[in-house]
Amino acid sequence: MVKDTCGREITLMRLSVTQKCNLNCPYCHREGDGDKNRCGKEISVSEIKGVMRAASELGIKKVKITGGEPLLRNDIVEIVKEISEIESIKDISMTTNGFFLDKFAYDLKNNGLNRVNIGCDSLSSSILQKNIGNIEKGLKSAADAGLNPIKINMVVLKGINESEIGKMMEISKRYNAILQLIELIPTGKIFFDKFFFSLEGIEKELERKASKVFVRDVNFRKQYFVDGAVVEVVRSHLNRNFCKNCRKIRITSDGFIKPCLMKNDNLIKINFSSDEEIMKSLMAGINKREIYYK
Ligand code: SF4
Repeated sequence: MVKDTCGREITLMRLSVTQKCNLNCPYCHREGDGDKNRCGKEISVSEIKGVMRAASELGIKKVKITGGEPLLRNDIVEIVKEISEIESIKDISMTTNGFFLDKFAYDLKNNGLNRVNIGCDSLSSSILQKNIGNIEKGLKSAADAGLNPIKINMVVLKGINESEIGKMMEISKRYNAILQLIELIPTGKIFFDKFFFSLEGIEKELERKASKVFVRDVNFRKQYFVDGAVVEVVRSHLNRNFCKNCRKIRITSDGFIKPCLMKNDNLIKINFSSDEEIMKSLMAGINKREIYYK
């Protein structure tokens, strides 16, 4: 298993395959990949395979495919299939806004996708397009296809949807899904100051009510089992513990290694000329990882 210079084992690849999206969520960070000065040419299937082969040799067994919206890539099923053929990659997941998932869920599952995170912030909202009215078909298809676990990602915003957490827990139970409550991270100061809602109080309440608490190895995040629902809380802003336990390396959709979500001044362009060069690029990226919130 490879470690960074801070002693953190790298176990997960977060692979962005496109910057394109059919939505424009107000809090979107596009995996911290919004640098307009880069060319934006999307990483090819064979480049993805090369980088995943190298990652697997370093002991990385899990990959999360992200975007933008990954399902906007015409070759998304092929991408999943190619990655799944790498024997030591044991877990392939995807984050999606769910809008096209009903068309793809079975194909993705049949070609190696294990699980899915579906963005859904609200029951119904004109501001938050990822709402249950828009994504329920995708959610149902994911469950029917056997993607497991399904996570519902809910970004909680002050004055917009914090009152809907209880109802979202009920919906998550209906689909046997895990509800993941996500605190806003700073993408724009004015927006952040206006809409940041601390989940500290909610987490305390979950802790009090939970019949069981499970601590995950990824960032030591906690899952609370409450009245038949499973709720995970993601609080990364100013969270030293979160950074201390970060085990991810990121690949941007245009073929850079991004050592940290929060930084854009330390990216490494991947040299795809041979497997050996890809490995060198990957190691250079891993060696640039630092703890952001110290
Ligand atoms: S669906 Fe996801 S990628 Fe698309 S705008 Fe919303 S947060 Fe960003």
